[in-house]
Amino acid sequence: MRIDIATVPGDPRRPNEDFVAVAGEVVVVLDGVTPPPDGVTGCVHDVPWFVARLGASAVERASTGPRSDLAECLAGAIETTAAAHRDTCDLAHPRTPQATVAMLRWDADLVEHLVLSDAAVLLDGPAVTPILDTTLTDVLARDDVRAAHGRVYRELIEGLRNVDGGFFTAAADPAVVARAITGSTPRSEVHGAAALTDGVTRWVEAFGAGDWSGLCEQLGKRGCSAVIDEIRRYEAADPDGVRYPRGKRHDDATAVYVDFDS
Ligand SMILES: [Zn+2]
Repeated sequence: MRIDIATVPGDPRRPNEDFVAVAGEVVVVLDGVTPPPDGVTGCVHDVPWFVARLGASAVERASTGPRSDLAECLAGAIETTAAAHRDTCDLAHPRTPQATVAMLRWDADLVEHLVLSDAAVLLDGPAVTPILDTTLTDVLARDDVRAAHGRVYRELIEGLRNVDGGFFTAAADPAVVARAITGSTPRSEVHGAAALTDGVTRWVEAFGAGDWSGLCEQLGKRGCSAVIDEIRRYEAADPDGVRYPRGKRHDDATAVYVDFDS
């Protein structure tokens, strides 16, 4: 068993809004959603405050105490985090702090996974199985969204955040875990597993450097840090997103690769 981790801020002058933790046989990766340009979120806390609480609570719940499934662990973590600022902040604000989530947990028999929003899990077995929540991709592919620009586009996307027909993140409502992609795989069928934020999935989805199998192979063989370095080179070669359209020039990038066989 070997676990490789890399997390790199998109901009060295800004705090990394990704969170990653490994405890025993649990991995939790979060990508805190960057606040809107006007900074109005209804919350007095910043994104690192939010992801640290949510992530730490998710790790604790998944790794200790009575065993409950990963969705229950995440729901409890969302509730605990909400309780920490319900008195000071407007948690009903659509831009209340929120995060995308990828979780892994394993034992001798099973490898469990959970994905919410555009984080990802890759299960590395005889074939590589990407575990993806495509609701945000589906929203971005809608005709009305594709036709919109500027402020209209931003308002349209904001209106689809955590509402039916839109896309979902871990914010202040624990019921969101019903939207997560969850499952388990016999451990004997998996020799590795990766948990990634979208700063790393862009290796496939924005830059087309390879498919999910290729990304999994690179993470396992060259290591998470080398893959993020490669992503930074693609970003630097296309700083304005002309050749490879993407939301941000650089994004916080986090990868964990669990090698069950070594
Ligand atoms: Zn707050």
